[in-house]
Amino acid sequence: MTKFSLTNIPDSFLKKWQEIADLVAGIINIPAALIMRTENEMMEVFISSQSAENPYNPGDKDHWHGLYCETVIKTQKKLHIQNTLKDKNWDKNPDIKLGMIAYLGLPVNFPDQQPFGTICVLDNKERVFSHEEEKLLCHFKKALELDLALMESLPKEESTDIIQKLIKSAKKYRAINQEYLATIQELKEANEELIKTRRISEESDEKMRSIYRVAPTGIGIVTHRKIKKINPCICEMTGYSMDELIDKDTRILYPTQSDYDFVGKEKYRQIRDKGTGGVETRWLRKDGSIINVLLASTPIDVNDYSKGVTFTALDITQRKRTEKALRTSEAIKNKMVSNIGDVIVIIDKNGVNQYKSPNITSLFGWNQEELVGKSSWDHVHPEDLAAGKQFLQNLSKEPNAKGTTEVRFMRKDGKYVWIEITLVNLIHDTDINGFLGNYHNVSERKKVEQLLKEKNEELQAANNELMTAKEKAEESDRLKSSFLANMSHEIRTPMNGILGFVDILKEPELAGNQQQDYLALIEKSGNRMLNIINDIIDISKIEAGLNTVNIRESNINELIEYTYTFFKPEVESKAMTLSIKKPLATKEVVIQTDGDKVYAILTNFVKNAIKYSDKGTIEIGYSKSGETLKIYVKDSGIGIPKERLNTIFERFFQGSDHHNVDQQGAGLGLSISKAYVEMLGGKIGVESEVGKGSVFYFTLPYKVKP
Ligand code: ADP
Repeated sequence: MTKFSLTNIPDSFLKKWQEIADLVAGIINIPAALIMRTENEMMEVFISSQSAENPYNPGDKDHWHGLYCETVIKTQKKLHIQNTLKDKNWDKNPDIKLGMIAYLGLPVNFPDQQPFGTICVLDNKERVFSHEEEKLLCHFKKALELDLALMESLPKEESTDIIQKLIKSAKKYRAINQEYLATIQELKEANEELIKTRRISEESDEKMRSIYRVAPTGIGIVTHRKIKKINPCICEMTGYSMDELIDKDTRILYPTQSDYDFVGKEKYRQIRDKGTGGVETRWLRKDGSIINVLLASTPIDVNDYSKGVTFTALDITQRKRTEKALRTSEAIKNKMVSNIGDVIVIIDKNGVNQYKSPNITSLFGWNQEELVGKSSWDHVHPEDLAAGKQFLQNLSKEPNAKGTTEVRFMRKDGKYVWIEITLVNLIHDTDINGFLGNYHNVSERKKVEQLLKEKNEELQAANNELMTAKEKAEESDRLKSSFLANMSHEIRTPMNGILGFVDILKEPELAGNQQQDYLALIEKSGNRMLNIINDIIDISKIEAGLNTVNIRESNINELIEYTYTFFKPEVESKAMTLSIKKPLATKEVVIQTDGDKVYAILTNFVKNAIKYSDKGTIEIGYSKSGETLKIYVKDSGIGIPKERLNTIFERFFQGSDHHNVDQQGAGLGLSISKAYVEMLGGKIGVESEVGKGSVFYFTLPYKVKP
């Protein structure tokens, strides 16, 4: 059986085999790589790798008694034991003693298939030898067998060369194999990762597919603007079937070429700039109607747009309509709010402005921002603050309570204008959360009201005047009636006297002195009538405006003296005294006035003084004060009650109802005097006390000839 002994093998072969063993041990990373040789049912360690933990030495021999290699030789098959200790067939193996529990071995034969031995590797820990490791071992097995064949067939020298070449290629192989193993490992890991990823991806693909199917948004893929994939939602949106759209140009979905071009340009521009593109566009449905669509796209491969883009399409037609309706309603609201004459306001419960409509600018000069957030009381007139605050407080007591008040509101130019504020309590309303209302400018109305008030007051005053005038007229009427009654009495009395005495005078036997008496009485009565008639004529002239003033130089001292002389006898006949007071020299009292009228007034005063006095003195005098001359007639007669002092200058008025015969008069004298005084530019007046006497006076402007 044995072809040659250990010594038959050339050294070069042995060297090479040793290298193989070392190489195997190194590559597979085990303590022992052995080339075993068998002879006479003996196993011998022929070559043993030179590794540190290797317990086998070349030349170690053992009999066949259940060795790993024995089995390999007998079976002529690979033997692979992962862990001897766990394998019942091998747990008694002698190699366990050496600590070797894992084994991989292959038979090595001579060319005629006679066994040479084995090539095997052993590990001191559990080990599963990979397929690649097994292939490596197989490769060396073949190398050994080739060596054995060479040793038989080739001369020694040639075979040495070949062996050298083999060793070289084995070294190369080792390097390649190491790389190969590393690659295998990487591939293995990558494969595991791939499987995992694929599983996740399959799961997520399934999820995606379900989302894709049921998504309420259109989803699809477009390549070179051709529709490649779409979900059912796109069909619903457009009214086309899948078949009608797939592989069609997207142009089919656009109402115009420019819509189509715009989307193409804009979308790809955005994709280029930021990786995704979003465009709002219009789509043409199969039925010809147009919908608004929001498109969002992203390329499948950012580096290669030709792979296409995925897109989502959202039908925003309704949203657009709603937006438009909202915009329209907002615009209408703004126009309404800006064009009405009132400012719309919202004030919160603390009185802070929340909203002022834009027309606050045109109406009051303020900008919205200048008021919003500020207290609404900042621009209310201080005098109206308390009432305004009270108004708001009252409204806040009850939801939906509504009220109106008026305050003065400050415009931006600082001027206050009256506004009418109408507010409704909407604090409970979540939109308003305060008081909603309006500012209505009522300044014009206020002005009109003020004007009306003034006019009303004027009217009232006029009315009062009218009433007074009416009362006066009534009084005057009454006085006229009394005057007429009086007049008839006044005229009839002297008339009766005259006629009566004339009758008596007809008596032939009447004594001469009696005749004289009666004639004197007739004369007196005649004078009285003349006086009355003169008074009536005078007042009539005044009333008719016929009585004119004749201003000329008049000597007041002279006038007084003349009056004195004229009335002295009459006064003294009543056992009274008449005196005069002339404080100024005659030349100083020659003034520019109507002397006849001054005399008429004086005469009237003195006549009255005589008429209404029975005792004491009557004094005629004057005084000068500044540019005024005051002429008076003072008596110590019956006096005039206070309540009548204001009316005695009225026409037809008689101060007392209890006149005796001598005091009878028409009640015209003082009113004629008053009219004359006023014509001369002066004033008339009286001071009097009942029982003590009266002072009648009038003033004249002290005008001397220049
Ligand atoms: P008559 O004397 O004719 O009644 P007058 O106009 O002169 O009219 O005077 C008006 C009234 O004023 C008189 O009726 C009389 O009551 C009062 N009166 C005028 N002068 C005096 C006087 N000196 N003393 C008291 N009463 C007077």
